[in-house]
Amino acid sequence: MKVDVDLIQSLVQKVLDQVEEGNEISTAGDLGVFQTMDEAVNAADIAQRKYLSYSMADRAKFVQVIRDTVLKRENLEYMSQAAVDETGMGAYEFKLAKNTLAATKSPGIEDLVTEAISGDDGLTLVEYSPFGVIGAITPTTNPTETVICNSIGMLAAGDAVVFSPHPRAKGVTLFLIRALNRALKEAGAPDNLIVTVAEPSIENTNAMMQHPKVRMLVATGGPAIVKTVLSSGKKAIGAGAGNPPVVVDETADIEKAASDIVAGCSFDNNLPCIAEKEVIAVESIADYLIFNMKKSGAYELKDKALIEKLVELVTNEGKKPKTEFVGKSAPYILEKLGIQADKDVKVIIMEAEESHPFVQVELMMPILPVVRVENVDAAIDMAVRVEHGNRHTAMMHSRNVDKLTKMAKLIQTTIFVKNGPSYAGIGVGGMGYTTFTIAGPTGEGLTSAKSFARKRKCVLVGGFDVR
Ligand code: NAD
Repeated sequence: MKVDVDLIQSLVQKVLDQVEEGNEISTAGDLGVFQTMDEAVNAADIAQRKYLSYSMADRAKFVQVIRDTVLKRENLEYMSQAAVDETGMGAYEFKLAKNTLAATKSPGIEDLVTEAISGDDGLTLVEYSPFGVIGAITPTTNPTETVICNSIGMLAAGDAVVFSPHPRAKGVTLFLIRALNRALKEAGAPDNLIVTVAEPSIENTNAMMQHPKVRMLVATGGPAIVKTVLSSGKKAIGAGAGNPPVVVDETADIEKAASDIVAGCSFDNNLPCIAEKEVIAVESIADYLIFNMKKSGAYELKDKALIEKLVELVTNEGKKPKTEFVGKSAPYILEKLGIQADKDVKVIIMEAEESHPFVQVELMMPILPVVRVENVDAAIDMAVRVEHGNRHTAMMHSRNVDKLTKMAKLIQTTIFVKNGPSYAGIGVGGMGYTTFTIAGPTGEGLTSAKSFARKRKCVLVGGFDVR
């Protein structure tokens, strides 16, 4: 074969010229999906710089495009089923509810309220300004929900985002990112505001975290990844693990408490980090609470040997949940334990001591231990201990305002739900907006657009004071 040296030289020169001009050469992704992390970050960086010249009305439009794309029936149904199929976690109807929630109740540009100070020296504005390119790491447990709420908040704030999904949620995450890119392009947004890589991996996540063009990191996941981003030397938001306790005292509406607890604990088979993980009940009402939990769909295990067998089945030596049981339904877990239960069983309950692994370990499956204590003060103290200082989420069912206040002050969780299921804390049957990135360790709380923005001050000296 004859090689045309001139042709090759001219092609090489063309490529070099394009690289020098910083134009599209390294940004040729497939609807936001790139082969390498470097390409993905560079593309997001170019997109974000273009995005700076877009108006707030444009940003609002793009946020609406994200909401509409997710809520398009075929996308919503496909993603909700695909997330269950790919991760083996959770259940279709809950994924539908969670994706819908993320699309409808994650705040947009209205979250970015400008502060103005006017006086003899003129006018000063403090405005929320973009960070630039954000690197966002997302979990298996809420794979699409996290991408939806992060994308809404970050694009509202004027940022571009590079996602690093969990490898076990790759397919569904890439589907969503492509769908969002397609729709944003049609709406006139710069290409590549939301990007990722074709093969997510720990190496790619590390490359993203170290990339100089990534100005901020947001990790939604377990303790390891939160620690990693906080040690990165960059501005980081850590949304980490929880182990939410629920306290029930003798003044509570026990029937309602029982039904709320079962509903909260079984929501998406206990995958949400906010979901009830252990019940601490005052002795005098414990029997009646358990009786009512059973009426609401709980299956009680009483046999000690069987409970031990369940520990062996679903945990690694009582220290960590086994991944193959995370987000599985109660009937599935019971069947593996050798018990054929009604398919309507929602949670598996058992009485346990405080030291039991089911109380201490964040399981993320519908297994709910009930610990009896003498009185409400002992219950609150125990709840503080078993929450392990995560500062994540806690619930309390009580009509005693003093004790509700006491627990709120002592436990210091980001979300504290009184007399409701845990999901009231993320806007389902409770007031307020939603997020799937709840930042306890770094203090942003329920993250929203302003969490992904920098405060900048603009000072006009003299004038503009109309008083
Ligand atoms: P995980 O920690 O296993 O994974 C989360 C993400 O981090 C994934 O994308 C994973 O690939 C990445 N990752 C993990 N370790 C890493 C490392 N050493 N280097 C680079 N990347 C790494 O978590 P998961 O099982 O997917 O999700 C469940 C956990 O996340 C639970 O602990 C849950 O409480 C927590 N979570 C917290 C929130 C919140 O808002 N606070 C929300 C959802 C989940």
